[in-house]
Amino acid sequence: MPGLREMFKTLTAVCRMGKLFKNILLDRDGTIIRDKHYLCDPDGVELLPGVTVALARMCQRGVRLFVVSNQSGIGRRYFKESACIAVNARMASLLAAQGVEITDSVYCRHHPDAMCHCRKPNTGLWEKLVSDYGLDPHETIMIGDKLSDVVFAQNCDLALSILVLTGHGADQARKAGLHLHKHEGPCRVFDSAAGVPDILARDVPTALHHLASRFM
Ligand SMILES: [Mg+2]
Repeated sequence: MPGLREMFKTLTAVCRMGKLFKNILLDRDGTIIRDKHYLCDPDGVELLPGVTVALARMCQRGVRLFVVSNQSGIGRRYFKESACIAVNARMASLLAAQGVEITDSVYCRHHPDAMCHCRKPNTGLWEKLVSDYGLDPHETIMIGDKLSDVVFAQNCDLALSILVLTGHGADQARKAGLHLHKHEGPCRVFDSAAGVPDILARDVPTALHHLASRFM
């Protein structure tokens, strides 16, 4: 049973959206699929538990899904861009088989040293989505397993940022001094602060269940 304070903070965060969210941006590795450290083999794509069902529910509600990821393995010459495209296609087809439509997958292919504008937490990939799909930041939330995903959401002025504890999430949260209190259940809501997620959740299904059960 969530506390009143927690529910109030979630309500405040959601009210900032103006409307209920229409778009979800998702990081790929460690958020939707298991992080396999520079995955370049489509046969290695492994969806994380419960993600498909949770995302299918969002699609049924008319929410559009976008995958936004850093793929510096291309810039580091660990694999070719075609391998990244093949991995994305495999993930999309596994999801599509269960009723999940990914509207688009965008990624940064550059080496971190390239200082590009599109590597999260920079905003280039968001600007591309705005240009291609007319997304409104106040109707859009971001879910990822790294603090760079949280900062990306904040840099783009998105309605909500969610850090999940899958992939690198547990390590990232620990380094930032964030943790789930047992008595608060699988989600914890924070006051807005730079570099701090609005919500810390065990995984994508937990995060979406938390939002949907209260506000959709
Ligand atoms: Mg990730």
